Amino acid sequence: MRIVVLDGYTLNPGDLSWDDLRALGECTVHERTPPSLILERAAGAAVLLTNKTPLTAETLRVLPDLRYIGVLATGYNVVDAGAARSQGIVISNVPAYSTLSVTQMVFGHLLNHTLRVADHARVVADGEWARAKDFAFWISPLTELAGLTTGILGFGRIGAATAMAARAFGMNVIAHDPDFDEIRAAGMEPVGLEALFRRSDVLTLHCPLTESTRAIVNEERLRMMKRTAYLINTSRGGVIDEPALARALNEGWIAGAGLDVLTEEPPPPDHPLLRARNCSITPHIAWATRAARGRLMSEVVENVRAFQQGTPRNVVNPR
Ligand code: NAD
Repeated sequence: MRIVVLDGYTLNPGDLSWDDLRALGECTVHERTPPSLILERAAGAAVLLTNKTPLTAETLRVLPDLRYIGVLATGYNVVDAGAARSQGIVISNVPAYSTLSVTQMVFGHLLNHTLRVADHARVVADGEWARAKDFAFWISPLTELAGLTTGILGFGRIGAATAMAARAFGMNVIAHDPDFDEIRAAGMEPVGLEALFRRSDVLTLHCPLTESTRAIVNEERLRMMKRTAYLINTSRGGVIDEPALARALNEGWIAGAGLDVLTEEPPPPDHPLLRARNCSITPHIAWATRAARGRLMSEVVENVRAFQQGTPRNVVNPR
């Protein structure tokens, strides 16, 4: 069975092994595939694996040998799932390999704003402590998390794990999700969307990008937030109206933002958030700890094996 990986580099830049996948068939791994080479590389493959390389209806239509698409991620919006279904092509994803890694990144961003560890380390390395008059000094206000309120938008796997970690820091937790019962069952307080924006000292986003969540963080809601509040986004860039957030930061409607995702990745050099005040951005790495990528690789291989054995798993486009 011919297996082609279209863009394997971010999953495995060299510190993991493709051997288990190679054992399942005649396998070719491409690090990246530009749009102009998708058809040439995919032709003749029964199994295609993609992370962010798009597989549109037009592309699928001219790939008659294709039987299975494995997405090397959780989100599978890069594949036209309806077109695949109508051609009898099975699509699998990997639903939960990075929950605790993403939770860790939420606090990486939050602690970066509230303690500025790297900035303090930099001025110490520059000699400022050696020149100081006192045994201690700080270059920005230091904020204790205990007693503050974390608001969670989207109380699924990552939202719930983030809520538990916030509790461990002594924070109060409020959350908004279409499913209030899940929030209550976890012992947290469900609130309406407006209360979430008004009451949160830290607002962290964990809903998927859908038509109902696109730009859910907009100017009107940013203006509801406390001037001292921080916004953290590790979900998808499109859930934020980015020009509105840039204004909110530059004009001081909120205290700061920590973002792991942007609408366009990589962003254009003139993206308004790249130079916005108190905005720290990481290049979509919350999922990418070695442990999480190792789990992702194992799950991708198990998905392909299960498909070959006639018992596909993690299917996102059931017939
Ligand atoms: P999940 O499916 O377990 O949880 C999503 C939650 O959002 C669900 O509880 C759902 O009910 C809720 N939701 C849906 N629509 C909503 C709305 N309109 N308002 C409020 N809540 C809504 O997903 P998860 O595993 O927790 O992942 C959450 C998101 O994190 C994913 O969709 C993905 O985009 C993102 N993610 C990012 C990275 C990264 O590297 N930055 C890694 C993994 C996942």
